[in-house]
This record gives sequence, structure tokens and C-alpha cells, in this order.
Amino acid sequence: MGRKPSAASPRGFSASRFPADTFPDLQAGNLACVRPSEAGSAAPQQETRRANERLVRAVGHIVEAEKHVPFLCECMDPFCTEPVPMTLKEYEAVRAHPRRFALVPGHPTVAGEQIVSEDPRFQVMEKPE
Ligand SMILES: [Zn+2]
Repeated sequence: MGRKPSAASPRGFSASRFPADTFPDLQAGNLACVRPSEAGSAAPQQETRRANERLVRAVGHIVEAEKHVPFLCECMDPFCTEPVPMTLKEYEAVRAHPRRFALVPGHPTVAGEQIVSEDPRFQVMEKPE
């Protein structure tokens, strides 16, 4: 008991714990997620919109009409995860227009996108045709 040397080697060959192909895979994965050419396109917003649609389906039938639901900000920043507190009715009013998105006030837009409605809680952005 206690006679065995510790498994931790002071010299270590820690590099061998990561096969050579580990890092290329990781990088490929990162590149697939973050394609700069897509920044500013509708792609991030479509992802966020799908998440918000799932949220509506998940809570739409149980949440009170006047209660604020933390929708995800639909700004052009694909990493933005800030909540936009809106009632279901407010969100559905934005959704009723296919080119309108709900943003946290002050969040970035790209050229051509117009803020068509402002509220202390959220602003509505409309994309150009
Ligand atoms: Zn945002």
C-alpha cells in the first residue's frame, strides 16, 4: 500500500496524450462554425430565429400574455446571446414581417438595416429587400 510510484510522471510526455490529428480536427471544427464570409449575412439571424421559434413552441401555451419572455437578440453578431424581453404578442408582431428582427437596443446592425421601432426593452430592425 502506497508502494507504487505515483502515476504522475514529473517529466511527462503530455504531448503524446494528444494525437497529432487532434488539433487539425479542432481547427476544422472552429472554422466550420465561424465563417467570416457569413458575418453580416442572414445566417446567424436565421439560427437565432429558429431558436426563438422553438422558445415560442416550448412556452407559448403556458406563458401569460403580458409576461416577458427572454427571446434571443437577433442582431448581426452571431455570438450575441443577450436576451430581449418581449411578450409573445410583441414578438409575433415582429415575426409577422419576414424581414424584421428583434434586437437589444443599441446592438449592431449592418449597412442597409433600418431600425423601424424602438422601445426601452427592444428595437425592431428591418432588413433591406
Ligand atoms: Zn445582439
